[in-house]
Amino acid sequence: MNIILFGPPGAGKGTQAKYLVKKLNNFQVSTGDLLRDEIKKESEIGKKIINYMNEGKFVDDIIVNNLMKKIIFDPKKKGKLIFDGYPRTLDQARNLDTWLDDSNQKIDHIFFLNVNKDTIVKRIKKRKIIEKRSDDELDIILKRYDTYMDTTKPVLNYYSNKSNFNEIDGGLKIAEITAKINGILKV
Ligand code: AMP
Repeated sequence: MNIILFGPPGAGKGTQAKYLVKKLNNFQVSTGDLLRDEIKKESEIGKKIINYMNEGKFVDDIIVNNLMKKIIFDPKKKGKLIFDGYPRTLDQARNLDTWLDDSNQKIDHIFFLNVNKDTIVKRIKKRKIIEKRSDDELDIILKRYDTYMDTTKPVLNYYSNKSNFNEIDGGLKIAEITAKINGILKV
């Protein structure tokens, strides 16, 4: 089963993705993690990525799409993809559709975890203390939220009238969100 978890930073996508990976024996595809890995490796791409991330901007579509293509065409992961943080732009959404088509796959469910700015700020501040993430300073958090909301509106429109689209209140407790997802997946 291929699933997209969609929603602003701090909406709980990562938490639900990890749960689904365990439950369905799938693979989490987190673009944020893949990009942070490139930074850690100090690769040429990593040096470019760090500038986008530290400014709270989206990383260039070409960089992100190249990283994702390898994963979508990986036979081990076929039909077992939990997308967390991808697609975030219309260009990425269209690319994903093309690659899924080309590899005989589809998206089974899209979950939009919708959450307001106040809740996000509180959650990310907490996460910052635990994970010490460098891109989590408050002004960057707010920039990331605004960038997300502005840039992903077309992506939301692209998915929202599809029959496999589900909006879930991301302000609910983790277990409540999980229960809603389970109800839809019938697992
Ligand atoms: P995340 O861990 O998903 O919150 O992502 C952290 C940062 O990585 C974002 O603020 C962006 O700079 C970058 N990023 C993650 N996913 C994407 C994506 N699909 N497209 C562009 N940039 C991304």
